[in-house]
Amino acid sequence: MAKCKPYIVRVAVPSPLRRLFDYLVPDTVFQENTDHCAEVGCRVAVTFGRREVIGLIIEKSTTSDFDIEKLKPINRLMDSTPLVPDQLFDLFGWAANYYQYPMGDALFSTLPVLLRKGESLPKLGTRHWRLTQKGKGLGKDSLKRAPSQQALVEQLKTTDAVADLVLSKDFSRAILTSLEQKELIECFQKNNTEISVSNILNQDALKLHDSQQSALDSIEQHSFKCYLLDGVTGSGKTEIYLQAIEKTLRYGRQALVLIPEISLTPQTEKRFRDRFNVPIVTLHSGLTDKNRLAAWTSAKTGEARIILGTRSAVFTPLCQPGLIIVDEEHDQSYKQHEGFRYSARDLAVIRARRENISIILGSATPSIESLNNCAADRYQHLVLTDRAGKAVQPTWSIVDLKIEQCEAGIAASTLANIRQTIEQGQQVLVFLNRRGFAPAIICHQCGWSGECHHCDSRLTVHRARGRLVCHHCDYQQRIPHLCPNCQGQELISVGEGTERSEAHLEKCFPNTKILRVDRDSTRKKGAMQAVFDVADSGEPCILIGTQMLAKGHHFANVTLVAVLDADSGLFSPDFRSHERMGQLLTQVAGRSGRGDLPGKVVIQTHQPQHPLLEILINKGYGFFAQQLMSERRITQLPPFRHMALIRAESDRANEAESFLRLARSIAERISPPSPLVTYLGPLPAMLEKRAGRFRFVLQINASKRSLLQSLLSALALTLEEHKDSRRVRWSIDVDPQEI
Ligand code: ADP
Ligand code: ZN
Ligand code: ZN
Repeated sequence: MAKCKPYIVRVAVPSPLRRLFDYLVPDTVFQENTDHCAEVGCRVAVTFGRREVIGLIIEKSTTSDFDIEKLKPINRLMDSTPLVPDQLFDLFGWAANYYQYPMGDALFSTLPVLLRKGESLPKLGTRHWRLTQKGKGLGKDSLKRAPSQQALVEQLKTTDAVADLVLSKDFSRAILTSLEQKELIECFQKNNTEISVSNILNQDALKLHDSQQSALDSIEQHSFKCYLLDGVTGSGKTEIYLQAIEKTLRYGRQALVLIPEISLTPQTEKRFRDRFNVPIVTLHSGLTDKNRLAAWTSAKTGEARIILGTRSAVFTPLCQPGLIIVDEEHDQSYKQHEGFRYSARDLAVIRARRENISIILGSATPSIESLNNCAADRYQHLVLTDRAGKAVQPTWSIVDLKIEQCEAGIAASTLANIRQTIEQGQQVLVFLNRRGFAPAIICHQCGWSGECHHCDSRLTVHRARGRLVCHHCDYQQRIPHLCPNCQGQELISVGEGTERSEAHLEKCFPNTKILRVDRDSTRKKGAMQAVFDVADSGEPCILIGTQMLAKGHHFANVTLVAVLDADSGLFSPDFRSHERMGQLLTQVAGRSGRGDLPGKVVIQTHQPQHPLLEILINKGYGFFAQQLMSERRITQLPPFRHMALIRAESDRANEAESFLRLARSIAERISPPSPLVTYLGPLPAMLEKRAGRFRFVLQINASKRSLLQSLLSALALTLEEHKDSRRVRWSIDVDPQEI
């Protein structure tokens, strides 16, 4: 590019100030880098205050609002080409606009940490490993004393060659070197632009059932189109993903697969690795910074052909994008709940449109938004109604808690059901979405109850740890022996958490393994895997846990699912709570009877006649969702209106509220209240006080996205400049998932 003077770049730097900073690009940069110059998307080292920081060029210009004489020059240009491809850069621009978040911060916060710290892109090269003749002839037990070496050799036996990048994630350098010294494996350079399309499978694809086949046949991969793959749990959606990806790979393109949480579903990753003989990388929060950067880079260079990742993986640069898949598209984890509050699912659709590729959203319990997009013909609805293998749909029954007595949350008839299942040598899953021993502690004499001083909430009893814990701010204290108020001795734990139900089950089934799965029990590394191992072994056992158990995992031997408390989702003020309840119950129920034996689901409730619960149980999630959709249409809630929340919190009680009153008056001046734009609030947040801060929300609903967008942009600008905005912590949440 020809250089024009003066050459100014607007740089995003890591700072709490939500704006860009202008720097000059001095001539020396051009002398050192003759064939390129400081482009948008390149990193620069700049002096910021007294420090040198790494920034990212967001814009180029020849003018500045500041005195050009006083602009500082950049210290160094750090990249010769932009870090992310143009289309992805544009996506950040779109997202920044839509979610009302500064583009530089958005981009910066999603880059691998090491790039933010100034590390250069690793040279992945084209190093591959393969077996030598000697290695190929090696017997199965020759390396018995070195099981890792044996495992590496076995892995190489299944394929021509494996990229160093991929192999070195599972095996240490020492293992590679020692096998190389024994002349069993060798390293060679493979040109990664020649992607072999003949040998991409490790194992044959399953023969699809008719309904699967017709869904797969409907999925075109030549231009943008969005498909909603709506199939009951176990209907074979993952198999369709695998076969769609196989096509993508044969077209010489990459596939990006988003999943809610990798640690809960190690089987998903394994199924991809078992099926494909191509480099696969996973991007999730458990990676070391170095591995994350390597995985990110290999996606960018095209070395990795399949990229599996959680929410932020939607921003992974791809060199030859071909297909995007969002599994469990309804899952809440796709929405970021602080800072850059994007929805990875929604951005994935926008990205697919910009890259002009297809996208599949899959779920057994699709969101109302996606179902509405199908109804409006924006997405194509592909439905699978039957389970794929031999498994059939489980049968549901209801336990009326108004009639039956419970102990530790478990009704007598439920307990009998559990006993029968265990005696038949099968497995049980007990679901209770509340961790700890009991959700409250009270004094029998004076009625004192343990409350958090920092939040509007009760302290949960964690008996095993001997502590009272606040689940909102993590405040903890020892469980008192005497009532702090009246010194009484009778402190009672009220209600049930997983710990209490677990203890009760242990008493009732002393000879059966009881495995608890919640955030407390799985803190230790490998704990989750240990549970999967027992479950997969097939021996009779009882799994008890929170929604961590509901997510994706395929428990082949569970034939009874017991939901201890179906009522918690029925009476929340959040307009999405019914949708969440239906999804959660259906997903938990879907863990039952996935193998050869039929499954049962028992639902305990005080509201057996609740109309929504009846529809869900008797007619299924599809009808249930239709019902919710018509309610949302009548009540004018998303997706029939577009919603944003202005959230504010402050240390002092009135500040957040009065700031939002100000926000409302400014907003009403920009867009007066009308049928097109409505305001609600400021209202106290669901938990008004949390971690010592008072929280309020202002709700804005608009009939059109564009209306909401222009209102929010103008409002944000005015608020940012207002002096009161520095007294509170405030943010804009577009398409909020929680109120
Ligand atoms: P989902 O992703 O919808 O839960 P999966 O793809 O995991 O469903 O399929 C559920 C089970 O059925 C798996 O064990 C899978 O191997 C098996 N399965 C899927 N499709 C077929 C098929 N066409 N033939 C035989 N078994 C299948
Ligand atoms: Zn007391
Ligand atoms: Zn608290």
